[in-house]
Amino acid sequence: MELGLRGKTALVAAASSGLGYAVALRLAAEGARVAICARSEERITRAAERIRRETGASVLPVVADLTRRGDVERFVEAARRELGPVSILVTNTGGPPSGPPLSFSDDDWEAAFQLVFYSALRLIRSVLPDMEERGWGRVVALTSISVKQPIDTLVLSNATRSALTALMKTLSTVYASRGITFNTVAPGPIATSRMEQLIQAAVSREGLSPEEALSRWIGDIPMGRLGKPEELADLVAFLCSERAGFITGATIPVDGGAVKGLF
Ligand code: NAD
Repeated sequence: MELGLRGKTALVAAASSGLGYAVALRLAAEGARVAICARSEERITRAAERIRRETGASVLPVVADLTRRGDVERFVEAARRELGPVSILVTNTGGPPSGPPLSFSDDDWEAAFQLVFYSALRLIRSVLPDMEERGWGRVVALTSISVKQPIDTLVLSNATRSALTALMKTLSTVYASRGITFNTVAPGPIATSRMEQLIQAAVSREGLSPEEALSRWIGDIPMGRLGKPEELADLVAFLCSERAGFITGATIPVDGGAVKGLF
């Protein structure tokens, strides 16, 4: 299937590893020019080199901390200057810490909203003028199945990603007639360093062995395994494509069947 991504400029946030990296690689393989960011210069430069080597695409690495407003603006400006007006935005960031739901201070909550919600809001605000001017745009937010089925130990994720989902749904309606779609992709447990951190946190907090912590996550997945980052990236690439023009305001899980609800 021809996705129609060739020559389009895409921004993928938090893409030195894991889900963001897999999405950037897939978009680049489809012929998009891709700008990626993360906080570490060494890691983001290495990620860009790998994507260029594998795909031959133009890839712009930018050092940016998504919790800083100025860094977000600099990321978008650099992409626009080096690669052209932005048509595709994939929001993503690191995950907030896990723990018992009432163990977090106001500062922890503030930090989680800055990390998950405000980073995406600021990215969206910065790229929308390019999309409106062309009457074409794709925004995909990577969230979590916690927006459909809250996870007891991840209240900061449950709450901040639900707020982001509400923002995306609102924008999907307001911009529907202007050729710009807004969809969220909600991963279940997928094998990345974030999963390793969550397993390690359960080991330290509850005294489980790493195998026990892993099997607890996998036990909730009907397919009986963790997902692969590429399995999420394929869906994101489709949602960013010409082919997905009639899909907006959706929240689609990639979770091996882990969410048990009907919607
Ligand atoms: P990961 O740890 O492999 O990658 C996270 C990426 O975010 C890295 O590139 C890191 O450098 C970057 N990053 C972190 N904080 C940043 C900041 N302040 N500014 C810029 N870049 C920053 O994790 P992942 O599995 O790819 O997860 C991506 C997102 O998806 C996270 O928010 C995670 O909580 C969420 N998620 C992951 C899973 C899963 O099972 N992997 C499931 C549900 C939700």
